[in-house]
Amino acid sequence: MHRKFTCPACKTDTLYDFNTSEGVLLDFCDTCQGVWFDRGEVAEYVDLAEDVPDLEKALSAATPSHLSCPKCKTDMQRFQYTPEAPLTVDRCPDCQGMWLDRGELHALDGIADRLESPKTRIFRALKSLEDRGYKPIAVMRQEAP
Ligand SMILES: [Zn+2]
Ligand SMILES: [Zn+2]
Repeated sequence: MHRKFTCPACKTDTLYDFNTSEGVLLDFCDTCQGVWFDRGEVAEYVDLAEDVPDLEKALSAATPSHLSCPKCKTDMQRFQYTPEAPLTVDRCPDCQGMWLDRGELHALDGIADRLESPKTRIFRALKSLEDRGYKPIAVMRQEAP
């Protein structure tokens, strides 16, 4: 049985543990297709030393999020992941987990691309999610033919 958590976006118990075929554990909401990362997991997936490359700077521009943490119910903080990336994340100040809405996971994949790690776990995780019906927002990744 999967453990279920309350999805921060849907406010329903639709967030559950999902183990990809590569052994990557994600918390995935079937309804809104958002993904929860526990502390340290983002760094692991994109091969970074930290979940957020410059956390202090990112937090200095954070705004209160209307979403609450699925694990501790604390109100999260919302901020831009890196100055370069078109990626806004919600992060729990208590457990330091992070919430990515649908489509934001692809932005994270783009960051991983720029780090020249095309075989990162996030890439494989995305593939597994797409097999389960995760619909990336195509326009974000569209390239000239
Ligand atoms: Zn949801
Ligand atoms: Zn939390």
